[in-house]
Amino acid sequence: MAKIMDGKALAQKIRAEVAEEVRALKANGVHPGLAFILVGENPASQIYVGNKKKACEETGIVNFLEKLPEKTSEKELLAVIDRLNADPKVHGILVQLPLPKHLNTQNILKAIHPKKDVDGLHPENMGRLALKLSGLKPCTPQGVIALIESTGTKIAGKNVCVVGRSDIVGKPCALLLLHKDATVTVCHSQTQNLPEMIGKADIVVAALGKPKFIQGDWIKKGAIVIDVGIHRLPDGKICGDVDYESASKRAAFITPVPGGVGPMTIAMLLKNTLEACKLSSCT
Ligand code: NDP
Repeated sequence: MAKIMDGKALAQKIRAEVAEEVRALKANGVHPGLAFILVGENPASQIYVGNKKKACEETGIVNFLEKLPEKTSEKELLAVIDRLNADPKVHGILVQLPLPKHLNTQNILKAIHPKKDVDGLHPENMGRLALKLSGLKPCTPQGVIALIESTGTKIAGKNVCVVGRSDIVGKPCALLLLHKDATVTVCHSQTQNLPEMIGKADIVVAALGKPKFIQGDWIKKGAIVIDVGIHRLPDGKICGDVDYESASKRAAFITPVPGGVGPMTIAMLLKNTLEACKLSSCT
């Protein structure tokens, strides 16, 4: 049976480290601040922002919420971002996705100052990531790497299969793993013979957004399985993209859903806010 990777406990450790650094900064008169922009009434987004705000409060990060109506125009939203870009109390800006359909996500993300882009999704930060330069990196992929490393496994030289190529998860995950010298295969909806690709991997990162899609018998014995997916089933239960029951019989390590990648995403957001604050203080 696979060892369960406790994302909650690892996230808690990171949060405690962030809280300590925040205390030290505050003692020197620097108060790290994070602004959330929430457009519309998407219930899941409201929960996500609520959880992130709570995490800020617990670590001492000052947080601001800009709650805007569903019908907010691009111009109005850009004006809010401009104001936050110019506000010295705000070190990080997070626009909760998805945005209502009439808003162009790329236009909005690129309006955030790259040094305040705590989600790491600005084209400049994405480019810096691709070029292995310093900069703010997307939170979930950083959480994935930290979880893999927490097993004591060296990533260099491992065959990794990343299932999903989104800008938020799959693509940046693949880049971070490549920079750690893994041999990375990126699969997507047009990939032929997914089970065969997964079967060759020492590490599987599942981020395809389909409940219980990846079956245990596709997984190489002794592999590490990181399940990024999160879904609420009709019976109210939460599951990931991997069929946990069968996969945990083959894998050496597996992340649970919930309690795996999710808490790590929030911990990395706090860490990015701290980094953004330090960046602003030294410029
Ligand atoms: P997207 O829907 O943006 O991307 C899904 C990716 O999976 C696409 O690249 C798609 O391919 C690929 N895909 C879809 N179907 C298949 C298939 N049958 N075989 C192989 N690849 C497939 O999702 P996200 O990346 O935003 O999120 C993925 C999952 O992670 C979701 O469940 C989401 O809720 C969860 N998530 C969890 C987070 C956390 O903190 N735990 C944070 C962010 C996301 P193509 O490009 O060809 O369409």
